[in-house]
Amino acid sequence: MTKRKQPKSTAKNPDQKKQGVKKIVTALNVQFIRFVVVGTLNTAFSYGIYALLLYLGIEYKLANLGSLLASIAVGFKAHGKFVFNNADNSLFLRFFIGWLVIYGFNIFIIGQLLKWGFNAYESGAMALPPVVLCSYFLQKLIVFKPKKNPSKAPLAANAPAVTLPSVFMKTHLAIVVPCYNEEDVLPETNSRLLALMATMRESGLISENSAIYYVDDGSRDKTWTLISQFNADSPYVHGVKLSRNQGHQNALLAGLFAAEGEAIVSIDADLQDDINVIKDMVHLYNDNNEIVYGVRSSRKSDTFFKRVTAQLYYRILMSMGVDIVFNHADYRLMSRRVIDCLRQYSEVNLFLRGIIPKLGFRTATVYYERTERFAGESKYPLSKMLALAAEGITSFSVMPLRFITWLGFLVSLGSLFMVVWIIIGKFAMQSTIPGWASSVLPIYFIGGIQLLSIGILGEYLAKIYMEVKQRPRYFIEENI
Ligand code: UDP
Ligand code: MG
Repeated sequence: MTKRKQPKSTAKNPDQKKQGVKKIVTALNVQFIRFVVVGTLNTAFSYGIYALLLYLGIEYKLANLGSLLASIAVGFKAHGKFVFNNADNSLFLRFFIGWLVIYGFNIFIIGQLLKWGFNAYESGAMALPPVVLCSYFLQKLIVFKPKKNPSKAPLAANAPAVTLPSVFMKTHLAIVVPCYNEEDVLPETNSRLLALMATMRESGLISENSAIYYVDDGSRDKTWTLISQFNADSPYVHGVKLSRNQGHQNALLAGLFAAEGEAIVSIDADLQDDINVIKDMVHLYNDNNEIVYGVRSSRKSDTFFKRVTAQLYYRILMSMGVDIVFNHADYRLMSRRVIDCLRQYSEVNLFLRGIIPKLGFRTATVYYERTERFAGESKYPLSKMLALAAEGITSFSVMPLRFITWLGFLVSLGSLFMVVWIIIGKFAMQSTIPGWASSVLPIYFIGGIQLLSIGILGEYLAKIYMEVKQRPRYFIEENI
């Protein structure tokens, strides 16, 4: 009996297996077909843009470049969305590098085929299958490979859902405002913040002893006089005066550590961030979130240069594996516990935006429109912006160091290929040209790479130098 039964069950198994294999094959096919369709449409789109630009009278080289860039951008979005189901924007750098590799590969194959005597059409057609296949697997296995823990992004909770009447949980709130030469804007900032706190106090959201803490970061104008004035006029205003200018990040830290409160909000003095969002932040804090990020929903008010460089920078940081909240500056709420954890970070090279996400804890996000500076001009000139940007990368990522290793490896591999190529050329084709370029170019190339590598090493060395000194980050001159 059992013997009879066995063949029956084994007869079913191959069927199931076949079905399984079929399923995989069809799934693969479908994705691959989608890939080919999207690729074809994108190529057509690229030609369309090219034709359009030519029609508009743009020079053919520029038109070519424009259509290429457009097709890269559209290709990235379309492949992520329609082919690989991974619309993560931070993958753009990977996609772009992958695209460059495939582009180079395509040119290489066509070049070889032309050399072997095929005409341009034949070469293009013959190069297509291997290029498409390589491109597909590169994108599937490397570029759009799903992340292992995609749930890293902070919880997007916007609704100020209050479970108990807010009267029962008055939050002891502190608002920390770093100020550097802000005499133009401070009176307005102070009156708006005080008005906001008054309404929050009235509605029972925050406690009576909630206050604002201004940190004067060694200003050379009347900022400290103004702060002293505010302090004299209102019991809800405190001031911390640093002994000299220590930079935004240090001033902010001084304020966070000096402030008393169970929930502490940090905000810039220039009213670029919507202060009404503080209410939502406190509601979210009452919902047991310990960190609430203020995130800009648009950068319309920034200059084109600042917008493009800032966004590019966030993307580069993210692709280097730095945990950072996209489009979030230093406008956030933190609980007392988070501030206490922050105290344990003693690094001199401060980049708070990178440290806070590392702390963990329950996190939420509120979105707001960033407006223009109310008065005065930016205290972050390009040089300070670049310094902060370098700080962000070298304090949180060893990627540039690893990059050197890879570069070294690739250059060595490349030179190995060159040796093989020269030997083949010498013995098989007898066509080596005793060239200047082949000997001089590598010298410049390697020299450049070496200098770059030493520079990057130096960057990290300087960092270690600053850290081992363990110097204090600021001194408080006055506390009111
Ligand atoms: N700030 C500071 N110390 C500095 C530079 C800036 O405390 O050395 C403060 C400044 O007063 C402002 C905040 O940091 O409250 C952000 O500066 P800003 O608004 O000028 O920067 P941007 O918005 O242009 O990036
Ligand atoms: Mg500003």
